[in-house]
Amino acid sequence: MKDLKQIDKQYIANTYARFPVELVSGKGSLVYDENGKEYIDMGSGIGVTAFGIADDEWQAAVSAQLGKLQHMSNLYYTEPCALLAEALCEKTGMKKVFFCNSGAEANEGAIKAARKYAAEHKGPEYFTIVTLVNSFHGRTLTTLAATGQEHYHELFQPLTPGFVHAPANDLQAVKDAALQNKAAAVMIECIQGEGGVIALEKDFVTGLAAFCKEQDILLLVDEVQTGNGRTGALYAYMNYGITPDVVSTAKGLGGGLPLGAVLFGEKTEFTLGAGDHGSTFGGNPVCCAGALSVLNRLDQDFLDGVKAKSKLVFDTLQGKPGIEQVSGMGLMVGILTEKPAADVVKACMEQGVLCLTAKNKVRLLPALNIPDEVLKKALDVIIGCAAV
Ligand SMILES: *Cc1c(COP(=O)(O)O)cnc(C)c1O
Repeated sequence: MKDLKQIDKQYIANTYARFPVELVSGKGSLVYDENGKEYIDMGSGIGVTAFGIADDEWQAAVSAQLGKLQHMSNLYYTEPCALLAEALCEKTGMKKVFFCNSGAEANEGAIKAARKYAAEHKGPEYFTIVTLVNSFHGRTLTTLAATGQEHYHELFQPLTPGFVHAPANDLQAVKDAALQNKAAAVMIECIQGEGGVIALEKDFVTGLAAFCKEQDILLLVDEVQTGNGRTGALYAYMNYGITPDVVSTAKGLGGGLPLGAVLFGEKTEFTLGAGDHGSTFGGNPVCCAGALSVLNRLDQDFLDGVKAKSKLVFDTLQGKPGIEQVSGMGLMVGILTEKPAADVVKACMEQGVLCLTAKNKVRLLPALNIPDEVLKKALDVIIGCAAV
């Protein structure tokens, strides 16, 4: 048989710099490569496998649905999709849900709704969306335009017009940008993930929410990475005590299958009407059945457990040699190391721990149910590899 890495190199578009490892199976927070080497998974597929790999309960929910009906399109009612929307609304107070398949698509849906709402309520010239410098909102041409990092833009001009970027934590600058540009909405990640795991300041977020409300500018919160228990709250905005008008989410929601969702609050509940938006795969019953099992387990007890694991991570890492700063919230953690982050990640991998990076930091997004002893073992390896 031809070497898998060779086949991949020959036939897969060169958009990903892969680590030289083939992963074949796993269970929970442990994963095995083609040679049977064991790794502790501290990335969970970029915050996707919320309950780890091949989790029994999730697998049972998915398998049961798979044996009944895998897809029928949105022309018909299916139970998992309706029950998941009900659960999302009951747990958040949001009013309606649109299902799609990824984070970028969820943001596209949020942006479309914001544009339509503002056109109807204020006029067609109110189309601009203000986003923050250093944000990340996805890879489609519109969500790239939303992303406040120039280096993602350069090769793909012209991007969708109607986006301006203002500095995070500078309330006056965001207000000015919104008013000067006749903004339809402001879109934020409460914790900038790809930007380096940086939480927004509380005063900034609550001030922004009050300003948006006062001006009838929609507040869109991108919870693609921060959502579904990741920060120790069901959604990260809940840590800030605000009520967004639109929430987008994806990554952890499906527990490992592709699923995105846009949650609409009171103002935008009826904004999108029949024919305004759609997705062939959106609300897929298998993905939704898995997501429903994920969401049903994210109760207060479980979220308190995430917070306890978070404390363990911060207490263990902070102040260790070679570790300059630990940032983030819950089990979304950025580690600023003296050594280049990529070198630390490489060393960890050699010692059987899979970590991510975010900009110049080592990033951890472990499964929310990672056992404490497995977590401690991984942290010891990370500390060892970060030491200068
Ligand atoms: C990952 C991410 C996205 C994009 O999600 P995809 O599923 O890759 O399209 C958007 N916003 C944030 C905050 C993300 O972390």
